[in-house]
Amino acid sequence: MEYQDKTIRCVDCGEEFIFTARDQEFYQEKGFTNEPKRCKSCREKRKQEKNQVKETKENK
Ligand SMILES: [Zn+2]
Repeated sequence: MEYQDKTIRCVDCGEEFIFTARDQEFYQEKGFTNEPKRCKSCREKRKQEKNQVKETKENK
């Protein structure tokens, strides 16, 4: 199956980012059915915030 680069608008910052053919293949391999909704930087940001929340909870 041939994949093509796809442009998606990030739900967080509204910037468009490329969901590359390679990433689509990767998603398919992993069995992910949902396309990414956020650009890479927003995903990283959310990941960091999640980690911070976790740390805060553990410190209690
Ligand atoms: Zn974004």
